Order: sequence, then structure tokens, then C-alpha cells
Amino acid sequence: MSNFEKPVAVKGMNDLLPQDSALWEWLEGQVRSLMARYAYRNIRTPIVEKTPLFIRGLGEVTDIVEKEMYSFEDRLNGEQLTLRPEATAGVVRAVIEHSMLYDGGKRLYYMGPMFRHERPQRGRYRQFHQIGAEALGFPGPELDAELILMANNLWKELGLNNIRLEINSLGQPAERSAHRAALINYFEKNTEVLDEEAKRRLHANPLRILDTKNPAMQALVEAAPRLMDFLGVESLAHFEAIQSILSESGVAWTINPRLVRGMDYYNLTVFEFVTDELGSQGTICGGGRYDYLIEQIGGKSAPAVGWALGVERVLELVKSQASVSGVDSVPDAYAVIPDACALPLAMALLGQLRASGVSVQMHAASRGTDGMGSMKSQLKKADASRATYALIFGADELTRGMVTLKSLRAETGFQTEYRIDAAADLVSALKKHP
Ligand code: ATP
Ligand code: MG
Repeated sequence: MSNFEKPVAVKGMNDLLPQDSALWEWLEGQVRSLMARYAYRNIRTPIVEKTPLFIRGLGEVTDIVEKEMYSFEDRLNGEQLTLRPEATAGVVRAVIEHSMLYDGGKRLYYMGPMFRHERPQRGRYRQFHQIGAEALGFPGPELDAELILMANNLWKELGLNNIRLEINSLGQPAERSAHRAALINYFEKNTEVLDEEAKRRLHANPLRILDTKNPAMQALVEAAPRLMDFLGVESLAHFEAIQSILSESGVAWTINPRLVRGMDYYNLTVFEFVTDELGSQGTICGGGRYDYLIEQIGGKSAPAVGWALGVERVLELVKSQASVSGVDSVPDAYAVIPDACALPLAMALLGQLRASGVSVQMHAASRGTDGMGSMKSQLKKADASRATYALIFGADELTRGMVTLKSLRAETGFQTEYRIDAAADLVSALKKHP
């Protein structure tokens, strides 16, 4: 025994064991298929970016930048780095760095871990995973709608229901600043109701006060001046165009005037998909338009819109709502090898089978077993593997150049011999599942 304590993972960061991982892989497969059908292409950016990218991108007065980032100094060159808390800033950085918009807009998607120093609880972790889609270089409301419809179709394809769509428009910067002035004026007249956080945000980011979860401030926030009343014709037209597309596609939504979202970079459309079935962490996907972010980060001005979904939350919903079967892979065959002498021959044949698309789990001796283990114990393992067949490399058959294929699932439990040098016959037998 070692003198060290049993190692544990970092708080709020979870291992994904094979039985759970199977569902993740299934989800990722569903997403890849969906993205391909909408012609969104995969992008993978580094998990670490320079800290100023997030400060500039997300905004200084945001939960993420104020308190949730894992930032550190590169010990070798003193550079400030941050584990990405979200992926849009990194995607935009990559799009600028590689001049990806030179020949028109791009539709992209990503999947991967994000890091935020939050209080871990159900649906909220310090390493969590997002899948996101971004359409960059397109100004029209049809892209906002396409992204919303795409997410909505994902819920359908995953077998999910009871997810509602909330949308809002944050307008353009000029409209927002007129509203902002009205908002500051309103809150200043009511400072006695504001909590400390709200007071601090009053001049820096009054819009975020609307996002408060403090019950004592609800009435005040409810009656605050509405941004919608400050929107001009173009912003309203953009918002209405999205709604007519949604309605023609049979998608229901509600307008939530208090939907502002955590990042500063949004303008015009913002939206969230919410469920009541996950406790207080009910937002499974959020997004919106961010026409000024690319320029803000140092690129040539270009419009963009996107969303990100929380994988853990979506999968929790899948587990409670959908009946997903066949995601955990089981091998076609389990290779029973009673005598270690047969290993070279057996492994050569297994290699041929696998090259032809058959999945085979090879028996391997466990510590403490005498040799390879008895035929009986190996067949027990074969059964436990849930394989359809056992492929038995018994000494008798081998001397005759044969292997035995035994069904582990069929009622009749048939058993047939195949020639080792005719792997093709074996392959077609193995691909037939009784
Ligand atoms: P919340 O209000 O729940 O903190 P957010 O507005 O910070 O969410 P976004 O930054 O928009 O979330 O991220 C998009 C999605 O990623 C969220 O809707 C959620 O599903 C998921 N998500 C965000 N933070 C976490 C986290 N700490 N753990 C697990 N999932 C998360
Ligand atoms: Mg958050």
C-alpha cells in the first residue's frame, strides 16, 4: 500500500465513466448528424486563451469575468491565460486570426469542456461541457431563426419535450443606451429597494439588474422601463421576421422582456430554451446575436449569431424523458482462448475480423488466474460481456484448422465450426445477429 491518500478529482469536475460516456457519444453523434444536415462545420479551438480575450469579449462587469474565470500566469513568460469559460470568444478569435470571413459567412459548431468557478450543484459544475453553433458574417434574421429551429429540431431528435423557447430583442447600441439612461434614472429614484450588487451595477451595467434573482427587487424590476419600447423600426422588423419564420415552422415561443443573458456582447436577438424539469438549473441552451463582438475583439466588423447548450443539463433531461436504447456498445463476439499457445493464431484471426468490421473482445487473464483461466470461466466472462457469440479457440478444433462459433443469445444455443483460413465465412456469420 502506498502512503498517499486515495486521489480525488478537483471539486466540480467530474469523470465520465464508460456507462455514462456511451450516452455522451450518442448525443455527439446526433449533433454531428444534425449539424451536417444544416451545413454547419466543426471547429476546435484551444481550451486556454489569453485572458484579455475574455475580458474584452464578455465584458468586465459580468459574472464570468468578475468571479468565474480560472486564470493563471504562464510561469515561463508571465502571460495571463484563462481556461475558456465559453467558446464564442475563442471561435471569433480563430475566425479573425485565419481570415475565415474573407469569402463570405461561415456556419460553425463546436463541442467541448468549459471552465467556470461556480458553486457546484445539480446542473452546475466547474468543468462542464457545451455544444455550440455560430453563424458568422450573416446579418439577416433568417440566421437567428435557422439556429433556433436547428436547436429545436435537436430536442425533437433527442426525444425531448416540455422545453419552452423564450426570446427577446436587446436592440442596437443606441437604442440600448437610451433605455439604459431611462433605467438608471428609474433605479436612482428607487435606490432604497436596490441590494448591494444592484447598487454596484447601477452605473456600470444597469441592464444586469433586471436579471436579479433577489425576490425583494422583483416588483421594482417588473415595473422598470422596457427596452422593447425603445426599439426602432429596423430592430423591430428583425425581431418580427424571426417570429414569422418560427410561426410558419410551427415552433412556439414566448417573449420574455427580462431575458438579457450573461454576456455583454449580445444585440438584437437573445433566446433561451428552458425546462421546468431540472430544478433551478433549467436553461439548457442560450444564445443570441452578437454583431459587434468580432470588431470588439479586433477583427473587421461582421455580424454573427449563435447558441450554446449545456451537455450535462441536456443529458439529464434525456435520462429522465427519453428512452434511449442501444447506446452502450456490446461486442459481436467474445474470443475464448483456453490455452495461451493459441494466442498468436487467435490474435491474427481477430485482427482480420476487426478489419472487416466485426467487434471482438478478446479474453485476457486476470491477475491471480492460473494461465488463461478455464473454458468454463471464460464462457462466463463471454456471457457477462453481452456479446452475441463466443468464438472458441479450443485445442481440438485448432489442430483441425477450425474455430467454434457459439451463439450466446439464441434460444437454441447453436454451435458451428469454421475454417480459420476462411475468415470471410466467419465474418458473414458474425454479422448475422440471431
Ligand atoms: P446560468 O444562468 O445557468 O448560469 P449562463 O447564462 O451562465 O447559465 P451560458 O453562458 O449562456 O449560461 O451557457 C450556455 C449553457 O451552458 C447554459 O444554458 C447551461 O445549459 C450551460 N451551463 C452554463 N454554465 C454551466 C455550468 N457551470 N455547469 C453546467 N452547465 C452550464
Ligand atoms: Mg452562469
